[in-house]
Amino acid sequence: MALLDIRDLSFSYPDESKPALNNFLTAREGEFILLTGPSGCGKSTLLKLIKHQTAPAGRMRGQVLYHGKRVEDYLPLTLSQEIGFVFQNPDNQIVMDHVLQELVFGMENMGYEPGFMKRRVAELVHFFGFEPWLEKKTSEMSNGQKQMINLASVLLLNPKLLLLDEPTSQLDPVAAKQFFSIIEQLNQDSGSP
Ligand code: ADP
Ligand code: MG
Repeated sequence: MALLDIRDLSFSYPDESKPALNNFLTAREGEFILLTGPSGCGKSTLLKLIKHQTAPAGRMRGQVLYHGKRVEDYLPLTLSQEIGFVFQNPDNQIVMDHVLQELVFGMENMGYEPGFMKRRVAELVHFFGFEPWLEKKTSEMSNGQKQMINLASVLLLNPKLLLLDEPTSQLDPVAAKQFFSIIEQLNQDSGSP
């Protein structure tokens, strides 16, 4: 069964006569899908509709199926954990003052057991090489570092589906390359079914 199956999806924002998007898509476990199109073609709207909690108000037709079930029929907690979302602007996602607090914020909200959190954070901090940043203020981090922190916070929840909305648009070419090489490595290490 496909991980994600989008069927005849159309969505219109309130008071807009023209639909913001109209499409279909299927994603299987381990797949890496790139959505491209000009600004305003509906990429962000589509991603927000996939992670149901981020869905904007408006009229939706068609279906977004995750593991064969409509996203609106899942418990919010399940989608919060299983579908990770990294926003376009890193500052829109950072909420805590310090890097370590930011990393564990999502896990704490999920109510994970402290011992498990410590082990999981230690593993990921090592993977990303974040040790020197842990005590630093999030406001001192560059955009590239902030976006890596956002990615790591999302990955700590061990998501099955990762949605990245132009995550490198605010990064310089070196930081963008680093970001994508991490994604590629993750996809190779844990993306295969
Ligand atoms: P992209 O991410 O591809 O640039 P968006 O999904 O942001 O595209 O936007 C798709 C369309 O929906 C555009 O025409 C945009 O102007 C419109 N749109 C986006 N957000 C809103 C909103 N909150 N209210 C009304 N229209 C919106
Ligand atoms: Mg967008």
